[in-house]
Amino acid sequence: MLTPNLNYSNLKNSYLFYNISQKIAKYMSEHPGARLYRMGIGDVSLPLCKTVIEALNQGVSDQAQKESFHGYMPECGADFLREAVRDHYEKRGVLLQTDEVFVSSGASDELGDILDLFDKKNNALVIEPAYPAYVDANVIAGREIIHLPSGIENGFLPHPPKDTVADIIYICSPNNPTGAVYTKEALSEWVEYADKNGSVILFDAAYEAFIEDENIPHSIFEIEGSRSCAIEICSLSKTAGFTGTRLGYTVIPKTLERCGLNLNSMWVRNRTTKTNGVSYIIQRGGAAIFTPKGQQEIKENINIYKNNARILMEALDEVGIWYCGGKNAPYIWMKCPCNMSGWEFFDYLMEEIQVIGTPGEGFGASGEGFFRFSTFGSEEDTKEAARRLIKLLKNK
Ligand code: PLP
Repeated sequence: MLTPNLNYSNLKNSYLFYNISQKIAKYMSEHPGARLYRMGIGDVSLPLCKTVIEALNQGVSDQAQKESFHGYMPECGADFLREAVRDHYEKRGVLLQTDEVFVSSGASDELGDILDLFDKKNNALVIEPAYPAYVDANVIAGREIIHLPSGIENGFLPHPPKDTVADIIYICSPNNPTGAVYTKEALSEWVEYADKNGSVILFDAAYEAFIEDENIPHSIFEIEGSRSCAIEICSLSKTAGFTGTRLGYTVIPKTLERCGLNLNSMWVRNRTTKTNGVSYIIQRGGAAIFTPKGQQEIKENINIYKNNARILMEALDEVGIWYCGGKNAPYIWMKCPCNMSGWEFFDYLMEEIQVIGTPGEGFGASGEGFFRFSTFGSEEDTKEAARRLIKLLKNK
């Protein structure tokens, strides 16, 4: 008889979004017609920009003609997109070879699949609070997880541990859920740690496009020494509204080797076995993001979200609540007032002012007593939510 992967029974049930939707459904049944202000969503609300739509349409037209039709695409990505990503990095001073860039269907897929490169005996260090997929993908694989807690005392940006050797290290900067960002100096500590211990950093750069401070690195490859210890996983979901269109890329330096094996070559072998490439049409749309017009248009959208962040940060400043994030990230991570738990604060906001956010407990134990606001909603809703927050919390 077949034995299923028993590690699935070690997964903790993720009640977060289920619980939120249940609570909202209950509230709505008791308050029919109530208007809710949803500041919890991690999905974008603005459509794809014009230049991307034109490129997608062109991609569809290409598929209608024998001369321009594309069948299977190269497993590791179309050259035109790999080159566009390479050139984009070069503008920031990061020199990559085209075949160090792998096109993907998004960061979620890659965060799970990339673990094929590592032995099950390796442990995985996760800085908490964390994007839940890091823990779950490793639990499914049966790996030991090292939970590295973070908090207000270190701005949710912990240093590498002194007495633990981690094999796989997840770093997400700008961070989901905290919005905290590592400086070059702080990231260098992690690179030194990884180089010293033979670890590999999986750098999740899904929110790099939101960085506005000059001294904050967009890529781990801006850090000296990282080419021998890091893989970067990036997504175009929040950068360019591709959450429903699906596209991302992963960078694996050819200089990344362990036990005489080259991880870039291993990933080529993995991709040629496990995928038949990303759709031609979508890759055409993705390449348009990296044109000057595409860059300008996606920045206009990002600035709308950034303005939402400013509105919410001003509200929290006015009521004197501790928070981080918001400036270089689309998330604001606040301390719940009056020692409330994240869930208590969720109920309180929904009942009193109909504002919805995400309880910090959903991102691991270090999230207890914190709350995440997302800035991906409409400006109108954000303004109203901010006004209500100020009124409610002013004298708390
Ligand atoms: N990494 C982080 C930190 C995220 O927050 C998300 C999505 O919310 C992802 C990865 C997944 O991105 P994608 O839409 O490319 O799968």
